[in-house]
Amino acid sequence: MVKDINDFKRVGFGLLPTPFYKLENISKRLGHNVFIKRDDMTGVSLGGNKVRKLEYLLADAQSKGCDYVLTAGGPQSNHAMLTAACANRIGIKSILVLKKRGVTDKRGNLVLDDILGADVRFVDSDSYDDVYAEMHRIEDKLKADGHNPYFVPVGGSVPLGALGYIGCAKEIFEQSKTAGITPDRIVSCVGSGGTYAGLALGAKLYSPGTKVTGVGVSDDLFEEIVLDLMRGASELLESDKEITESDIDIKYCFGKGYSIPSPEGTEAITMLAHEEGLIIDPVYTGKTFAGMLNLIREGYFRKDENIIFVHTGGAAALFAMDLA
Ligand SMILES: *Cc1c(COP(=O)(O)O)cnc(C)c1O
Repeated sequence: MVKDINDFKRVGFGLLPTPFYKLENISKRLGHNVFIKRDDMTGVSLGGNKVRKLEYLLADAQSKGCDYVLTAGGPQSNHAMLTAACANRIGIKSILVLKKRGVTDKRGNLVLDDILGADVRFVDSDSYDDVYAEMHRIEDKLKADGHNPYFVPVGGSVPLGALGYIGCAKEIFEQSKTAGITPDRIVSCVGSGGTYAGLALGAKLYSPGTKVTGVGVSDDLFEEIVLDLMRGASELLESDKEITESDIDIKYCFGKGYSIPSPEGTEAITMLAHEEGLIIDPVYTGKTFAGMLNLIREGYFRKDENIIFVHTGGAAALFAMDLA
């Protein structure tokens, strides 16, 4: 490996490192050692995982002299909302191109998008191809008007964004060491893949004994996408480590589909709230925690493993939809 993530430009948006500690009550209840990495507390807007990716992506935008950032997502996209928030910090205007499906009235993240002053445009289609086509039309128009837009794909899940989660993995290894525990297992959500890709690559590079298990929260398979992201990020670091499917471990727990609250997710949300006073969300972290509970019940983890659950944020969705 020739490069380190510190060799890349980064805007210091986040309040890092985020907290890391043991969930004492949950650990007792489940009979497993469960720790939490609080990336819901990254410190911009209401926090969440996208801040770490945006630190690299918007640094790239800044170094290219961009005055606009364009990104896409569902109507309740945490990523789009955090893009607007981070862009505000460095004086870049944001245009959020959102799929007009699901909760599109002014609730949850759409309230925050509005407060943040983002320019929200809806695309009435089921397909992200149409969303991207609209983004490219907006991009061309901006360029014709003399602007310099920066394009961030859904979830910021490109290799450069994934570097943010190599950073998170490094924090986890550092904090585990301070706490005197071995980081046997990291469990994280797989939404668009960048978070998992960064964590899994971080483990491979800096803590090969750590297994990283992802929980997919939509009915799309993510193995290929994650493999490409890991290889792309590894290439940025000029690493010669070979990355194969055996580096990837993704399970699925999406209920009826992406962004549809599930009874299992609600059980997880209620459990964490009652045991730990912690709030997770119905779209991502609730289903991820539910997936982890399923794996614990199936005996997938060794009894003595230290399991680190990455809380990626997302609570604004609780104010946009009813729990299942
Ligand atoms: C985007 C998001 C995820 C998924 O992260 P990816 O990098 O897209 O896989 C998980 N949790 C929350 C709250 C998110 O907003």
